[in-house]
Amino acid sequence: MKFITFARDEEQLPGLWLGGGRIADLSSAVGSIQELIEAGEAGLKAARDLAKDEDVNLSAAAVRLLAPIPRTRKNVFCIGRNYIEHVAEGARAAGQETRLPEYPQIFTKAPTAINAPGAPVRLDAGLTKLLDYEVELAVVIGKAGRDIPKDRAYEHVFGYTIANDVTARDLQRRHEQWFKGKSLDTSLPLGPWIVDAAEIGDPTTLELSLTVNGQERQRAKASMMIFDIPTIIASLSAGMTLEPGDIIATGTPSGVGYAMTPPQGLKDGDVVVARIDRIGELESPIKAV
Ligand code: MG
Repeated sequence: MKFITFARDEEQLPGLWLGGGRIADLSSAVGSIQELIEAGEAGLKAARDLAKDEDVNLSAAAVRLLAPIPRTRKNVFCIGRNYIEHVAEGARAAGQETRLPEYPQIFTKAPTAINAPGAPVRLDAGLTKLLDYEVELAVVIGKAGRDIPKDRAYEHVFGYTIANDVTARDLQRRHEQWFKGKSLDTSLPLGPWIVDAAEIGDPTTLELSLTVNGQERQRAKASMMIFDIPTIIASLSAGMTLEPGDIIATGTPSGVGYAMTPPQGLKDGDVVVARIDRIGELESPIKAV
């Protein structure tokens, strides 16, 4: 199933993307996708039942998609430098030798950075001269847990979505901690939906790619991660509780703009499309403000 949040009038409503231009409104069963995830198996069952109900079936054209969780309860967890070729291109751009991380590199993005599929990403030229993209597979936590062992990690995954970890490279460097350069408003396009874990099956077989104005910049298999999803979940949850609706962006492959020769920042009017097979595509126009 593909879990969405959609806007109708002023309301944010939970739903299912049915395909064929149709969605199912789940609001008679749950208040939000966050609530549905917290409900566990009961939430999935309610969604399955409503998907067959003609009375809640709507045209997708009548609604606007938001991020599947438009406002997470806490910061979005992110893994840095998790694909070898991306570590290597970063080292090259900095004139340094490639050194692979020994442990997952963890940072976060503010919940206010979350952006809807199709919505513009702000480009404030007074603030950043090098705005960059990063396609990432995002894991959505279902069942809460602390000290989750690797071999139980997938039991805590509700599903998967696409994240574009948009980054102001100059701010990322200037402030040393990455938080500011990673957390500008609209700098986390997320969606277009969360696909439940059972439908995805083995996430290591997923392929990620990203284009700018139709030109391919990034392509890799999720199996190329340095730290795989069980390792990331075990490491993050060690002594720290993960909760339903928490999101973990698992790192980006090579091909980012700042490592190109010369470095290429996103420009007004560019259209960035992040894709992951079996999930979908997440389009973001860049808009000067
Ligand atoms: Mg990233």
